[in-house]
Amino acid sequence: MPELPEVEVVRAGLARHVTGRTVTRVEVLDPRPLRRQDGGAQAFVNRLTGRTVTAAVRRGKFLWLPLDDGHALSAHLGMSGQLLVRGTASATGAGPGPESASAAAFLADPGARPGGRPVDLSATVQPRYVRDLSISPRHLRVRIHLSTCTSTDISAGGGQSVPGPGSGAVLDLVDQRMLGGLHVVELVPTADGAPGGAGSPEPLLPADATHIARDLLDPALQRTGPGGVVARVRASKRAIKTLLLDQGLVSGIGNIYADEGLWEAGVHGLRPGSALGPRVVARILRSTAEVMARALQAGGTSFDALYVDVEGAAGFFARELRAYGRQGLECRRCGAAMAREVLAGRSHTYCPRCQTRPRRPVRSQPTPRAPR
Ligand SMILES: [Zn+2]
Repeated sequence: MPELPEVEVVRAGLARHVTGRTVTRVEVLDPRPLRRQDGGAQAFVNRLTGRTVTAAVRRGKFLWLPLDDGHALSAHLGMSGQLLVRGTASATGAGPGPESASAAAFLADPGARPGGRPVDLSATVQPRYVRDLSISPRHLRVRIHLSTCTSTDISAGGGQSVPGPGSGAVLDLVDQRMLGGLHVVELVPTADGAPGGAGSPEPLLPADATHIARDLLDPALQRTGPGGVVARVRASKRAIKTLLLDQGLVSGIGNIYADEGLWEAGVHGLRPGSALGPRVVARILRSTAEVMARALQAGGTSFDALYVDVEGAAGFFARELRAYGRQGLECRRCGAAMAREVLAGRSHTYCPRCQTRPRRPVRSQPTPRAPR
């Protein structure tokens, strides 16, 4: 599951290559990723066609593209979803700027196939993230044709050619395992009046994402400080790791960064929130935010088998991990063998010396009611 840093990499790519473009045509090759759409695939096409993308916004792992009519295209990447762009000419029409230089350079690659290669949005950070879509055309589910600012219509059906600078683009949803999806949803005001998320100053967020808490890298949360999150953690008897994964309490953290943050802070994931002091909770949140910020610098972490197969390499940040996936290996702080256990259905990897396991761990599952 992509976590905050991975989704942010995609958001930044969308902001550079899709913002300012108008949807000229939508091709639905498979309606299943549109299952969350009110009204189904036809409603999706009708609501999207003719609309201009005004920004790319993220809160936690949630990603949306605000449109010019008060709605947004909401994207869930799931475990296997990818958003790919073909034809990443500058949306300003002024030719590729420095930010799109890597994608433009890639498109100019003389070794490119005659059919043209898609640009994975991650490629805007590191060119070697680029994947060859043509090996799995059956996994293309939805293709969104985008104009230049002057609404030039292009046909990229079947990947005939890579459009040059100043021409249109297509945004593809490619999903092998059908766990991702797209839908158009209304934007509603945020409860606190602060921007909905990273990428736009507008105090709006999708109507179906209002239960998602702000993430640790959100400037609005950094401005108010983590006090509210700390208080809610300390008011709960649930395990700290379960609390970190609760997107309604603090968003964007998945299994990888929860394990990393707890290792950095030296706290076992089974400790109940109510047993932790305020400074300890603040330290865990700070550690987790720092790990995610470092992963973001490195372009995110990926353990996806699909990704590894196609690229022949794991994500940039994978080798930097101190806890996740390191069971049996030496703790990078004290040398003890890292241990792993299952907590509320998720693995938890920790150092038994640096992260003392509580004697009487909190129950990670609801207690079954005794028969009468
Ligand atoms: Zn240790």
